[in-house]
Amino acid sequence: MATKEMKQIMANYYHELDSASKSSDKKVAWCSSVGPTEILRSLGFYVYFPENHSAMLGSSRIATDLIPYANAVGYSPDICSYLTSDIGAYLKRVTPLSMAYESIKSIPKPDVLIFNTNQCRDVQDWFRWYADEFNVPLLGVYTHRGVNEVTDAHVLSIAQQMEDLIIPLEKISGNMFDINELKKVLSLSRACSNSWKKVLETASTIPSPLTFFDGTIQMGPAVVLRGTQKAVDYYNSLLNELEERIKKHEGAIENESFRLYWDGMPIWGRLRSHSELFASQNTCVVASTYCNSWIFTGFDVDDPFNSMARAYTELFIVRADEAKEKYLKKMIDFFKIDGMIFHDSKTCPHNTNSRYGMPQRLEEELDVPSLVVNGDFNDLRCLSDEQFKTNIEAFIEQLEGNK
Ligand code: SF4
Repeated sequence: MATKEMKQIMANYYHELDSASKSSDKKVAWCSSVGPTEILRSLGFYVYFPENHSAMLGSSRIATDLIPYANAVGYSPDICSYLTSDIGAYLKRVTPLSMAYESIKSIPKPDVLIFNTNQCRDVQDWFRWYADEFNVPLLGVYTHRGVNEVTDAHVLSIAQQMEDLIIPLEKISGNMFDINELKKVLSLSRACSNSWKKVLETASTIPSPLTFFDGTIQMGPAVVLRGTQKAVDYYNSLLNELEERIKKHEGAIENESFRLYWDGMPIWGRLRSHSELFASQNTCVVASTYCNSWIFTGFDVDDPFNSMARAYTELFIVRADEAKEKYLKKMIDFFKIDGMIFHDSKTCPHNTNSRYGMPQRLEEELDVPSLVVNGDFNDLRCLSDEQFKTNIEAFIEQLEGNK
């Protein structure tokens, strides 16, 4: 896959951030992963996403050892392990950026931090810690949570909060807000979303040319570079590659016999072993809620603030179970799913959907079996590899029995 190109894009992104952080005339904003990055880019900020850094801590398997350092300054081992591993890494002065890109010695220093509580409150607490540490402003958008239908009242309130960010951000950036610049960024963000969506939808083909595990690697530019031409070009070329594979009937795994849906976060430190485990069982995990989280096809350049407010509130993670179940039913049908895996992430209740009867309700309604696996995205102490393997193998045996 176009992975080599993607690695180069990510390397350039982090090098640009590093030099912006060292320069006196460039400004760096930290943003939560589904925060209003388009506004920041339109004002000329270089945008850094701590969650991407935390995912790197997870996939390089150093996160678990760093968590206790954040626990020692008051952040519980039970809260978001992105937060705890990231603050732990800062306290220990380590970063996977130095391992990946030799010349980068530290994370970029922020001039401002912006969060949106649409995903959780943890991003707010996480960013507050760094705002104090660097003595820089912290700004936020407070989103309603557990929303069933997104109404005009929700949209108006979020859009107003987004507009209210402009004046403080103008002061910090030293640039005047230009609505045409925002429209340009928004249009690129939407183009990125359209292509990323099509990339993920190629997995509806049998056999699927893409796995969930590939998706977690490929989604980097959709998270950190949405709003740029580079991200659009990358996903267009990835899409061409996947369409070629489809023409040749090339599956991502050999002998695809079962197709699964993954709900919840990936276990970053086990991506490779999990991908190999499923492949060894002739099973392709074809789709996930997680990778779909960076699709904002509702952005509208003719109505920038309202459409941003709506798109950032219509996200799966913001919604009530009823809306989530409707969405999952569509996914199960579209991707021709044989079974569901629900990852119960110990430290992220917001990305965990198995605790209030959802798997059972879906199973009853759609006759699609499901399995709940316990673990965590960054804290590997919450995962038993043996148990995981045994449970997956037993689940696939059950699917075989059902066939
Ligand atoms: S959504 Fe979950 S993983 Fe993401 S920042 Fe919030 S608590 Fe952490």
